[in-house]
Amino acid sequence: MGPPWRFRGEPLALEWVADGWHLRFVQPYRATKVYRCPGCNQEIFPRTLHVVVWPEGEPSRRRHWHKACWERRFAELRRAARRGGQAT
Ligand SMILES: [Zn+2]
Repeated sequence: MGPPWRFRGEPLALEWVADGWHLRFVQPYRATKVYRCPGCNQEIFPRTLHVVVWPEGEPSRRRHWHKACWERRFAELRRAARRGGQAT
């Protein structure tokens, strides 16, 4: 593809939705800041692949998580949902 085509998308922006959550992978080269993971309360270091998660439609509530921490959390949420209980 040449002119007039210009690349617009983000080739490595991997976005997923499930159960009302929206998840985006943050590639190491785009992770330039230190974040604190709500799952383990430890820092997510720059240049680390991690995920940003927010309730669908509420991007202002997005949080950065270690991938493994979010997977653990998400599994807990799904278990709680199956039980019909409330996850906190
Ligand atoms: Zn974590």
